[in-house]
Amino acid sequence: MSFTLAIVGRPNVGKSTLFNRLVGKRLALVDDQPGVTRDLREGAARLGDLRFTVIDTAGLEDATDDSLEGRMRRLSERAVEMADACLFLIDARAGITPNDTLFADILRRSGKPVILAANKAEGRAAEAGLIEAWELGLGEPLALSAEHGEGLAELATRLAPMVEAAEERAEEAETDIDVEDDDGEGDGPRPITAKRPLQIAVVGRPNAGKSTLINRIIGEDRLLTGPEAGITRDSIAVPFQWDGTHMRIFDTAGMRKKAKVQEKLEKLSVADGLRAVKFAEVVVVLLDAAIPFETQDLRIADLAEREGRAVVVAVNKWDLEEEKQEKLRDLRAGFERLLPQLKGAPLVTVSAKTGRGLDRLNAAILKAYDTWNRRVSTARLNRWLTAMTEAHPPPAPGGKRIKLRYMTQAKTRPPGFVVMCSHPDKLPESYSRYLINGLREDFDMPGTPIRLWMRSQA
Ligand code: GDP
Ligand code: GDP
Repeated sequence: MSFTLAIVGRPNVGKSTLFNRLVGKRLALVDDQPGVTRDLREGAARLGDLRFTVIDTAGLEDATDDSLEGRMRRLSERAVEMADACLFLIDARAGITPNDTLFADILRRSGKPVILAANKAEGRAAEAGLIEAWELGLGEPLALSAEHGEGLAELATRLAPMVEAAEERAEEAETDIDVEDDDGEGDGPRPITAKRPLQIAVVGRPNAGKSTLINRIIGEDRLLTGPEAGITRDSIAVPFQWDGTHMRIFDTAGMRKKAKVQEKLEKLSVADGLRAVKFAEVVVVLLDAAIPFETQDLRIADLAEREGRAVVVAVNKWDLEEEKQEKLRDLRAGFERLLPQLKGAPLVTVSAKTGRGLDRLNAAILKAYDTWNRRVSTARLNRWLTAMTEAHPPPAPGGKRIKLRYMTQAKTRPPGFVVMCSHPDKLPESYSRYLINGLREDFDMPGTPIRLWMRSQA
């Protein structure tokens, strides 16, 4: 099994109950090493069609001494480290406790995908806790009842893409001898927050200059370029450093190799693009200055937005342009008209061939990544929300004004916000857009998708 899920959370939230439900009798002890691993249980989980490994940090409830907090933290960190993703349980009946907040921080710092689940959610006693759970800033909480087996289908839906992606990666790793481990690449300081290398992908139509650009950035002839498609080597994620930042770049080489005819290549490059987008945190959409905004370019840029990636638009072959000022104006206008969903995303002109503009591209990538990770405090958001609703009150269908009561940031990567309001179903789309555009402007978040959820207050 290629996917491992860690169940974490403070004692008594229901981790073991869920673990037992997922694993049944298919239990394996992790190992009998001394120390923290002893407290981890591992099992083969089954959930619908999904098969994966699950790690449970139970056993801790026995720890009653003062060191509980430290042990809990170490154990959870260890479990998280071993896992591809984490299922973070809280007790919906108890609401958020300080220990829950501590766990939320550990999980956020790990950079691993987190599914937040409010357990013991059967019945009405759990409603308040479910709403409070948004405040942890880990996205939409899933209502779960480990004991009664409720919410498992929704859990499966959230896990499915992760399990599938892990399976695909495992298959790739088997056939891909060139993937290098990016550990031990030196431990120079990263200018930005993540511990892991920043994952980027360069996408665009065939001949836009993707291979040339990647070669240029990585600084060696890793990929062979040329007018003929299909000569690049097999490799997926190439680790490298760019001006002191550790990065991994998704390189579509392996798949292109198999494409013989142009038509096939066109099709393939869309599939490539999709995989690249799924891999990346920042997607560089590379356009050919001579033929920008082709259908394929627009599709892939839209896909990147829908998948919630940070986007940088780079216009390549700028060395061939003569009327640069005029061309730039046209490009900006075209961008605004054809890709309104990426409003404010940086547009950088480059020449992969000469290397001009690459420093600006690097800066744009780092900034986009930073914005994508941006967190705004609940206090600021609520002051802002008051000002926004005063400046432009929400509509009053049937004479009753919709009230927006409270706002908090539910997630980052990309930033997502939840607004508690009366009658969310009656709030027009245009009002959400007003809020999203306002967030983008007032909190300086250009070029990142912004998610906004309207929820009714229980
Ligand atoms: P752990 O310490 O996180 O592993 O928690 P346990 O799985 O041992 O559960 C702690 C307590 O919560 C037990 O008494 C469980 O029976 C109870 N519990 C677990 N899941 C649920 C649930 O979905 N609903 C309710 N009401 N109780 C639950
Ligand atoms: P890919 O299919 O997107 O990977 O494109 P390639 O990197 O193979 O480049 C396609 C063609 O465009 C090659 O002939 C490159 O030499 C050329 N090319 C790439 N970047 C530039 C550039 O910045 N300026 C010019 N003039 N040509 C470029």
